[in-house]
Amino acid sequence: MLDALIQVMSEGDTNTKNNSTDSSRSAEAELEDLNITCSDCGSDFIWTSGEQVFFRDKNLQNPPKRCRDCKRAKNERLAAIALAQESGVPQKVEVAVNCARCSERTTVPFYPSQGRPVYCRSCYLDMNPSLLQPPDYSQD
Ligand SMILES: [Zn+2]
Ligand SMILES: [Zn+2]
Repeated sequence: MLDALIQVMSEGDTNTKNNSTDSSRSAEAELEDLNITCSDCGSDFIWTSGEQVFFRDKNLQNPPKRCRDCKRAKNERLAAIALAQESGVPQKVEVAVNCARCSERTTVPFYPSQGRPVYCRSCYLDMNPSLLQPPDYSQD
């Protein structure tokens, strides 16, 4: 009786190990809700295991960088930029960033590209002193 039970258990064990669909199922079970710090507003948000599965299904390699609010704000900015490009009407864009030099919170009139440092006005002028020259000869 006991022998039979052990046999059943060990059989069941080898079965699950050889089952190819089991590996993907257990990988999904390993997913846990993750705490991510929003790159825009700096507050923590939860990246749920469900969203992680969604990301994987979509073959997205990188986890989200922004909280829901900032993601929506970003999408609205991108939509405004796309609209401006389509219509040819320049749209005023203001993006909140932290200066890469002095960490000062500032806004820039463009959407910074990934990995590019963004500077506040004073740091930018500091590094580009030619911009401070009087615009005498820029008139036509
Ligand atoms: Zn945020
Ligand atoms: Zn600065």
